[in-house]
Amino acid sequence: MADEFPFEISPMFEGERVRKGDMYVELAGPKSRGFELVRAVEMDEIEDGKFTLIGPDLSEMEEGTRHPLAMIYRIAGELVEPDLEAIVERRNHDFQNYIQGIMHLNQRYDIWLRVSKGAIQKGLNSFESIARAAMMLFKNELPFIEKVEATYITDMDEIEKELVGAMEIYSARDERTRDLHDEDVDTFYGCSLCQSFAPTNVCVITPDRISLCGAINWFDGRAAAKVDPEGPQFAINKGKVIDEIGGEYYGVNDIANSLSSGEYDRIKLHSFFEYPHTSCGCFEVVGFYVPEVDGIGWVDRDFAGTAPNGLSFSTMAGQTGGGKQIVGFLGIGINYFRSPKFIQADGGWNRVVWMPKKLKDKVSGDIPKDIIDKIPTEEDASDLESLKKFLIEKKHPIVEKWAEEEEAEKEEEPVSHAPVPMGGQSPFQMPAFQMPVPAAGGSGVKLIFRNAKISIDRMIVKKRD
Ligand code: ZN
Repeated sequence: MADEFPFEISPMFEGERVRKGDMYVELAGPKSRGFELVRAVEMDEIEDGKFTLIGPDLSEMEEGTRHPLAMIYRIAGELVEPDLEAIVERRNHDFQNYIQGIMHLNQRYDIWLRVSKGAIQKGLNSFESIARAAMMLFKNELPFIEKVEATYITDMDEIEKELVGAMEIYSARDERTRDLHDEDVDTFYGCSLCQSFAPTNVCVITPDRISLCGAINWFDGRAAAKVDPEGPQFAINKGKVIDEIGGEYYGVNDIANSLSSGEYDRIKLHSFFEYPHTSCGCFEVVGFYVPEVDGIGWVDRDFAGTAPNGLSFSTMAGQTGGGKQIVGFLGIGINYFRSPKFIQADGGWNRVVWMPKKLKDKVSGDIPKDIIDKIPTEEDASDLESLKKFLIEKKHPIVEKWAEEEEAEKEEEPVSHAPVPMGGQSPFQMPAFQMPVPAAGGSGVKLIFRNAKISIDRMIVKKRD
């Protein structure tokens, strides 16, 4: 069947990277524009297999150039309903990547594609074959789709025009979960899509916590599990609550255990430090602990600079991803900022000490009024020094915590040489580890470990020249 295509199609090509040197053209991405969108329509509104291209085709694109790209699919079928749009749309990522010589990253308005020189040499010269392959995969892998039609746009003006409507659709989807919370439902949903590259990843989607990629909310999970219970999105019976604030449930822990093959058996949905949610690799935002101020900063995929800790999104994403439970970094979807349970186990917004301006503006409506002006962006703080200064100046609530901690340290002084208690604590229990804020005028570094379990293979201490 795939013989009609000038390329191979297989999940085997999913991990394929198209680097700059091998790239023929780049489509959409941070330096251009684009989006992907799926709409559910009535059976008689579309013609199965129809493809429309608005703008120049691949054959008209010169080597080494960059072009905008929008991919719009309209789907129909007896079981097709608008609730399935997001789920189907998320699969475009997989299906594009199944095509040899095509790399597809991210989702929604963040998509970024590259077509390799090799693919062009093998005869790929039109978006039509890409769209046909995608449509074939949609129908094969999601049998509830009976008819599908694709429109690809490479004309910038047309994309700008269509993007307005698409953005409204994305935000309407995000808006739906606003009044629904974890305590209102008995079922959460899991997603195993990212296990293809992050085998121990456990993606749990709840009313208060959108998927890390930002593309699948609780309603989407429910619709997908209903139409294909054996598919990548499935129901999780949430079970009894273990920790209300942290968001720990028996049902989630069970599924974490089986999904991660025993690697993780505890997940706290609303905790940054203690048994945090695993991070796959396609998260929209990464949170990072800033020990110097005992706060948490957040940086999104679109921010090209470096955070006050001197690291960029991609550097931190590299440390965060892979389906691991990593203390000190956490991948999230942007919509999680809108949840009243946002890292509530760690102080919620009162623990947030930095965000890029654009990201902050995006979620500003959901940042509590009393803290919003106390959270710096790249315009207020570019390094640790200016960050600390800003927080003190604005009387950020974290500053009060520093004072309390200093008090506590003084009180603990007399027992500081006592043996470290070795409770059956997991090394993931971060609250035990604190780097105190360097005191002004002091010299050297003081490390305090509370309830810590430390194992070191080898440690080298060298004199600095
Ligand atoms: Zn993911």
